[in-house]
Formats: sequence, structure tokens, C-alpha cells
Amino acid sequence: MSGLILSGRELAATIRADTAERAAALTAAGTPPRLAVVVATDDASSAWYVRSISTAAVKAGIVCKVLDLGADAEVETIRATLADLSADNMVHGIVLQTPLPAGARLEDLAGAITVEKDVDGANPLSLGRLAAGLPAYPPATAAAVVAVLDHHEVELAGRRAVVVGRSTVVGKPVAHLLLDRHATVTVCHSRTPDLAAVTSTADILVAAAGRAGLVTADHVKRGAVVVDVGTNPTEDGGLVGDVDAEPVAEQAAGLTPVPGGVGPVTTALLLNHTVRAASTLA
Ligand code: NAP
Repeated sequence: MSGLILSGRELAATIRADTAERAAALTAAGTPPRLAVVVATDDASSAWYVRSISTAAVKAGIVCKVLDLGADAEVETIRATLADLSADNMVHGIVLQTPLPAGARLEDLAGAITVEKDVDGANPLSLGRLAAGLPAYPPATAAAVVAVLDHHEVELAGRRAVVVGRSTVVGKPVAHLLLDRHATVTVCHSRTPDLAAVTSTADILVAAAGRAGLVTADHVKRGAVVVDVGTNPTEDGGLVGDVDAEPVAEQAAGLTPVPGGVGPVTTALLLNHTVRAASTLA
């Protein structure tokens, strides 16, 4: 471990360099990697995220096409767009941005993204393959959690891991990835009674609830490693995680910061998955 603050920035830079190298080789061989991002929302933070993906993609040498279907897009229009992109040989990675219009569910629509191009692990088949130990792209955020732990040389095998959150995009895939790495995994959620009693058994605690300040020092065993996935906007336009950072950092052996922890690694891995998909499909 490199200290109390387990930054993701250095790792993200390493992944970006690998991505750029692979993208340049693919482009030189006549297959520039292409990512399609399908948007059906006018949510401001989503727009910010899409812009940051596009900018990072272009910097890495990936062609990024944003298809804005509008916040009132019909479910069938979104599904047909994803199916067209799945069939398009010029496209290698597909992301369906959330939130979606009322009545549309990511789990339903993402089935139209072919698994080979599902670079953010949104198709339920990708999660199923992950659970079965078969190759698939995990959601980039879930992969980023494990990548940050690996980067800081946190031992996973035989350790007790507790994940707070059971969404299909973060909590469940993180639990599968940690299980694959031989951790003993417990998943908590909003109906878990006495959350602190469970989380304080963790050697590795992953907070992915989207609740600012949920994880306090009382939730953390002395010497645990804490990964804060939460991104909660503050009134002054900033961002905080789910972890009460200062007291928890004193208690823990290591804590990922927000921002600058899981976030930059997530974006870097999404693009890395895209060049890997392009290599496989080329
Ligand atoms: P989500 O779909 O809202 O899921 C939240 C999960 O947390 C649910 O399983 C929920 O339980 C659980 N939960 C909520 N309140 C809880 C409480 N008081 N005690 C215990 N569990 C509680 O959110 P998500 O999409 O997984 O995202 C989680 C967080 O990660 C958000 O802050 C999001 O912005 C952030 N995120 C960050 C990145 C990144 O790149 N850094 C990427 C994606 C998401 P129930 O299932 O019982 O409702």
C-alpha cells in the first residue's frame, strides 16, 4: 500500500497510456476504434459525464460518436438504435447513458447491446457471464474498484469484503469480481439491519450506496481498506463520496478519495475496454 489516500489518478494515467498505444496500433492497421454513446436524457450531470468520456476518447485516439435521442425518446427507438449499433461493423463499443426516460429500464434495453461491444457491462448477459466466470466486460466502475485495490497491492484472497449497495451497475458486479478473487463477500443494502455491525467486520469495505456520509468511523474496523464509490453532488457544486472521509481515514489503513479515486479509473477502463473490443472484433 502506498499510504492512507489510495489515489486512482496514477493508475488512470497508466491505463490511458495503454489505451492510446492500442488505439494507435488499431488505427495504423486500418481499424480506428469507435465508441458510440447513446443518450436519452437532458440531465446536466449526465451531459457533463458524456462530454468527459468524449474528450478522453478523442485524446486516446478513439472515435467517439454521441447519439442524442432526446429526453422523450421512445423505448423502442432506443432499443432499435442499440440494435443498429450492435450490427454496425464500424462500431466497437456501445454505452447506454443513464438516466433513461420514465418507463425505460437499463436492464431491459441493454439486452440490445451485443455482449462483444458491451464495454460498460450493461447487458444482463454480461453480468451473468461474469457470475459464471466467463469472459465479459464488467461495468467499468466495478472493474475500477478491483483495479484500484490491485494497484495499491491490497491482498484480496481470503480477506473479508463487505459491499454496501446491490445495484446491477456497481454493487453486484463488484461482489462477483471480489468473489472471483477469493475474498469472502457480504453484500449490504437499504434493508440490512445494523449496517455498522456488518461493515465493521470488513477487511475491505466498498461503499456504493450514493448516500453522502453513510459510512462513518463506527462502520470501519481499524486497519480496513475502504473504497468509496459514491459520487454525491454538494450544494457548492463539489462532489463527496459515501464515506465520512476524515475520521474514516484515521481509522482505516487506506481510503480512496472522492474525487480522484475510483472515478478517473472508471473512465480510463471504459475506453480500455473499447480498444480491447476493437482488437477482438477487428
Ligand atoms: P443505486 O442504483 O441507487 O444503488 C444504491 C444501492 O445502495 C442500492 O442497492 C441501495 O439498496 C443501497 N443503499 C441505499 N441507501 C442505503 C443505506 N442507507 N444503507 C445501505 N444500503 C443503501 O446507485 P448505483 O448506481 O449503484 O451508484 C452508487 C453510487 O456510486 C452513487 O453515488 C453513484 O453516483 C456512484 N457511481 C460512481 C461511479 C464512479 O465512476 N465513481 C460510477 C457509477 C456510480 P436497495 O437495493 O435496498 O435500494
